[in-house]
Amino acid sequence: MKIAEVIVDVSAYPVDRPFDYSIPEALEELIECGCRVQVPFGNRNILGFVVAIKNETEVPLDKLKPISTLLDIEPVLTGEMLELAKWMKRETIAYEIDCLQAMIPSALRAKYEKMVLLETDVENLEEALKPFFQHSTKVPYKEFEKHNLLIPLKKGLREKHLSIENVVKQKGQIKEIRKVKISEDHKQLQKIHDNLSNRAKKQKQMLLWMQQHAGAIIEPEEIYKETESSPQVLHAVMELGAAQFVFEEVYRNPFKKEVEKTDFLTLTDEQEKALKAVVNAMDSHLPETFLLHGVTGSGKTEIYLQAIQHCIQQGKEAIVLVPEISLTPQMTNRFRSRFGEQVAVMHSGLSVGEKYDEWRKVHEKKVKVVVGARSAVFAPFENVGLIILDEEHESSYKQEDSPRYHARDVAIWRSKYHQCPVILGSATPSLESYARARKNVYKLLALKERAMKQPLPKVEIVDMREELKKGNRSMFSKKLVEGIKSRLEKKEQIVLFLNRRGYSSFVLCRDCGTVMQCENCDISLTYHRYNERLKCHYCGFEQPVPTICPECGSDHIRYFGTGTQKVEEELTKLFPEARVLRMDVDTTKRKGSHEAILEDFGAGKADILLGTQMIAKGLDFPNITLVGVLSADTSLHLPDFRSAERTFQLLTQVSGRAGRAEKPGEVIIQTYTPEHYAIQFAKEQLYEPFYEREMMMRHAADYPPYYYIALVQVSHEDLLVAADYAKKCADYLRSNLSFNASIIGPTTAGIVRLQNRYRYQCLIKYKIEPNLIPTFLQLMKIYRTEWIKKGIVLTIDINPSLI
Ligand code: ADP
Ligand code: ZN
Ligand code: ZN
Repeated sequence: MKIAEVIVDVSAYPVDRPFDYSIPEALEELIECGCRVQVPFGNRNILGFVVAIKNETEVPLDKLKPISTLLDIEPVLTGEMLELAKWMKRETIAYEIDCLQAMIPSALRAKYEKMVLLETDVENLEEALKPFFQHSTKVPYKEFEKHNLLIPLKKGLREKHLSIENVVKQKGQIKEIRKVKISEDHKQLQKIHDNLSNRAKKQKQMLLWMQQHAGAIIEPEEIYKETESSPQVLHAVMELGAAQFVFEEVYRNPFKKEVEKTDFLTLTDEQEKALKAVVNAMDSHLPETFLLHGVTGSGKTEIYLQAIQHCIQQGKEAIVLVPEISLTPQMTNRFRSRFGEQVAVMHSGLSVGEKYDEWRKVHEKKVKVVVGARSAVFAPFENVGLIILDEEHESSYKQEDSPRYHARDVAIWRSKYHQCPVILGSATPSLESYARARKNVYKLLALKERAMKQPLPKVEIVDMREELKKGNRSMFSKKLVEGIKSRLEKKEQIVLFLNRRGYSSFVLCRDCGTVMQCENCDISLTYHRYNERLKCHYCGFEQPVPTICPECGSDHIRYFGTGTQKVEEELTKLFPEARVLRMDVDTTKRKGSHEAILEDFGAGKADILLGTQMIAKGLDFPNITLVGVLSADTSLHLPDFRSAERTFQLLTQVSGRAGRAEKPGEVIIQTYTPEHYAIQFAKEQLYEPFYEREMMMRHAADYPPYYYIALVQVSHEDLLVAADYAKKCADYLRSNLSFNASIIGPTTAGIVRLQNRYRYQCLIKYKIEPNLIPTFLQLMKIYRTEWIKKGIVLTIDINPSLI
């Protein structure tokens, strides 16, 4: 008897291990590791993943239960992924089931119905399968299960006569239209026609028409129109075998437009050198990590493209990760224009069905390259030759929920598994990565010049305190107003950037100073002008803007903060003739709107693009000659040790949008703290001096990269209970970690109350701490077996991106 080890879909402590199930004889030939199954668990039937198959078990035979259903005829997870999940589970202190679930597209997690699609002529199928496809090209998988036909089905799938599609059960997830495919067989149509009685006039008429359109795929409505008939007639002739329904998917191609093919560029010497190093590592199967540090516009992407080309020529696959925010059509088109149909794209703008389709292209090896956001690092390629993380410093590479993995760590793990290199690219590498490159843990590749030797844009800093002294109370300095004016005259384009990190438009009573706050969280509500409502960005709580103060009853309510809408209004007052496009969360909610805005701007349909973080990256338009940063320092004063680094990165990225082609660019940065080193070094785009200076700060405060950090957070509805258990955590950590680790806290978290729960945290700083993971695992065990019953929620985040 064969036994399967199954990880079941229950995130709970005692369950976080494989369970043994017997494999029913009928499934023996079908079940493989990495398949999803349904198994009896307690009194339920739940989802599980087969992680091992063996011949023996310690479970007494009378206790051993059989697997109830096999959900995948081909495994959805490779052996590599099963191994990776075990590693991630330990490294991030997560449940194994959560790690496994993170690796597959949500369509496979949701409720869905599996359908079998006919890919060739019915005649090619085994006899037993033929009857199922007489009237349709799409048959529910469970039909084959019911009739015990899984083995011929698997054969048909392997031979590519059939394919499998998972149709998400929620309505409207997958867009399809039903069409009619007329039989290709003239003689058959003739025969059906001849056999009909003369009274079936309408049917005969339709068959004659069908003979003229044999083999065509047509919408039913069109047939009714053309033949002046009704659905009844069509159904009648279909019953006789003259036609069948086929399903055509619509809008399932996330690439709306065709892209033109582009050729490889002749590399500059710097590029050539960098490419060579990567190609050498590929050829020698070395799992090296390269840090490609190149100023904005230095042609990093071209290196990626040529390295991928080499990878494909070797018959291998490449994974390219880019931050969600820069997964713009402009970016993905650069890959598609080189590699065409060999590219799959995965990002959050796709529907569940589209994402699943893209994933499937990878799973079925129909593509060689995947370009995607964080989770694309799990692309189920089996012969990976290269992994690239563009903008490696981006905090979005770290997942904030369990499993709290960093895509960089997963990429490096996979590179070791596949013996292939990783490229981390950035104009402003994270301090951690640059420090590793300095120590030769990563190989540093530097591009110091822009690809076409364009000079870096001229950057000017405007002290807004001086503006105020001169009586300018608007959010535009004189310098910026002049700059915009001159670009408008010259018909050049302008990008205005509003740094909104840690910034929000809030509502305040001018009489008593009350700020409108969320009912559930200790955080001020953000004002949304478009629907005149206040919204909490953490829990989603919403209310209309009050007309009188809830505290003192005054009607002097005032809006604070500078939203993009307010900037837009001021802009139109100052420059009534300017055409302004705004890009922020409000204007990009609708699918495809992001794309549309950029396209309009690229086509010159607007003079000014005004936006938030979203526009800091990836924009590559030749006509942009002025970039204005409205207030550089809003991100500087956050209580986060990375705030200077983030500000430097942001300013450097935004500045990089100007003067990318022949026309020289200019950047104007407005700030209230012009003397800050992050702003001064960003002005000159001087990464290394910034690095040195910031490293000194980190050293002084024992922060990364000198120390590692981990954050343990405890929350409860009752403030005292939360504080009590946070203290228990701290005590536990103090008595189990070495003296070299410092444990700070418990202190209250940055936002003390979130979603009606009070939050405390301990920060752990450590260097080499062999006992760290075992201690965390043990703490987790205490929490999962005891504290959880008291309503405590405990999370452990190793290398958190925000503290
Ligand atoms: P990065 O990714 O470093 O910001 P890009 O790859 O976007 O830089 O390159 C900036 C611009 O320079 C792009 O328009 C690109 O087409 C061009 N470019 C890159 N490499 C070359 C080259 N070797 N020869 C000519 N143009 C190049
Ligand atoms: Zn008031
Ligand atoms: Zn809230």
